[in-house]
Amino acid sequence: MPRWVLHLDLDSFFASAEQLTRPTLRGRPVLVGGLGPRGIVAGASGEAKAHGARSAMPMGQARRLSPHAVALPPRTALYRVLSERFFGVVRASAPVLEQVAYDETFAEPEALADAGAEDVRAFAERLRTEVREVTGLAVSVGAGSGKQVAKIASGLAKPDGVHVVAHGGEQALLDPLPVRALWGIGPVAEATLHRAGVDTVAALAALEVGEVTALLGTAVGSGLHRLARGIDDRPLVERGEAKQVSAETTFDDDLSDLGAVRAAVAELAEGAHRRLLASHRAARTVSVKIRSSSFGTTSRAETHAVATTDLATLTDTAQRLAVAALPDAGVRLVGVSFSGLTTAVQEALFPETTADPEPAPAPVAALPDPDPAPRGWRTGDDVAHPEHGHGWVQGAGHGRVTVRFETATTGPGRARTFRADDPALTRADPVDALA
Ligand SMILES: [Mg+2]
Repeated sequence: MPRWVLHLDLDSFFASAEQLTRPTLRGRPVLVGGLGPRGIVAGASGEAKAHGARSAMPMGQARRLSPHAVALPPRTALYRVLSERFFGVVRASAPVLEQVAYDETFAEPEALADAGAEDVRAFAERLRTEVREVTGLAVSVGAGSGKQVAKIASGLAKPDGVHVVAHGGEQALLDPLPVRALWGIGPVAEATLHRAGVDTVAALAALEVGEVTALLGTAVGSGLHRLARGIDDRPLVERGEAKQVSAETTFDDDLSDLGAVRAAVAELAEGAHRRLLASHRAARTVSVKIRSSSFGTTSRAETHAVATTDLATLTDTAQRLAVAALPDAGVRLVGVSFSGLTTAVQEALFPETTADPEPAPAPVAALPDPDPAPRGWRTGDDVAHPEHGHGWVQGAGHGRVTVRFETATTGPGRARTFRADDPALTRADPVDALA
């Protein structure tokens, strides 16, 4: 069955969050990041990007490129709330997610299992509308038959759009791209391919698989060759959750008969199964670990075609594996674990899984650390005033502070200047700027 994978990516997330909650900044170039001499840009608004500013660029360089940009320190607490709202909306329509970053996720909506490209477009547009209603932010959505095509498509959808790559259209999309655009090709692999005269995805796809594995190694080569040919059946991998649930026990006295080992396996499987149910997930892989009294450890694993939560099925597999792993000597430790976890039982969507090694998922990028608490007022601080409400510091110095009173819901507000030690001004929670 053809798959539809979506890649959703909030547009210029940090800078957009600033423009959302500080309406004066809408339509203006905004840089978010470290403001000190060694500061790095964490995010740039579309207006600043048009001047050449980019995230991960030194702030000084970005300010030279976009001299009228408003530079602000990150407000992690605000971004976290918006990120949670974003994921809440997406998860409601598409429970199977692979979170890539605080502003970026893959989704494989069950509703699209049999859909045509136009249905996918309509679904994506609906999701975009919901994200905007709930978060106030623009999200771009790419869709295609696998994660790689969906991710490239969301880049083409920006800003604030949808790009659907119809099934069968993968090769036309990928062919002209540089090999670097492929998943898993870093600078080293790229240099190797360049030396071999392979610069584009089309050139990589044209090689025989043996030529690719000779260049890049067996483990990565075959997977990359498939990706270059538009074949991408890698499943979505839920992040930020344990990759397995397990239970194990070390015995005071080594077990020496099969009946005792089987009883232990049954008990451990039941313990791991409780954790599986508690995590609201199903497991495909059962693993058993047995350590003998001579401390040799044997592990056995078996992967089912479909994920299951059925205790009898999981226990039977564990028993079979335990028998196969039994040492000649006594048994000192037994462990049972369930992995290949999915939030929903997704067998229908993944009729076959590739044997290619899946690169370990990258950790979700961290939000930038908030700067240490400043002394005095600093540009970008959230403030509250009993009369004027919530605002933000536009500038401070010479014993004065200028505050713009506005939030996400007020429209552009007025700026007022106070003495820096005016007791009516207090620090406020950045999240209040959403109200
Ligand atoms: Mg983004």
